[in-house]
Amino acid sequence: MSIEFEPAKWYAVTARDDTEGCPNEGQEFEVNPLYSNAGSAHVECGLCRQDMTILSATLLDPQPEMP
Ligand SMILES: [Zn+2]
Repeated sequence: MSIEFEPAKWYAVTARDDTEGCPNEGQEFEVNPLYSNAGSAHVECGLCRQDMTILSATLLDPQPEMP
């Protein structure tokens, strides 16, 4: 199941690294804020460089002011 993102919004997400053998495997990370770009958000693991599985996403309300 994939989470639908509205384009050009900021979200708070929880993501899990599911890459076998990565030191982060099975660990969950909070990312806040995460930008949805054109409607698809990705959380890249800093160790294995693979996309993590996004478990939950909450639209930030209010949206943060970004320069
Ligand atoms: Zn990883």
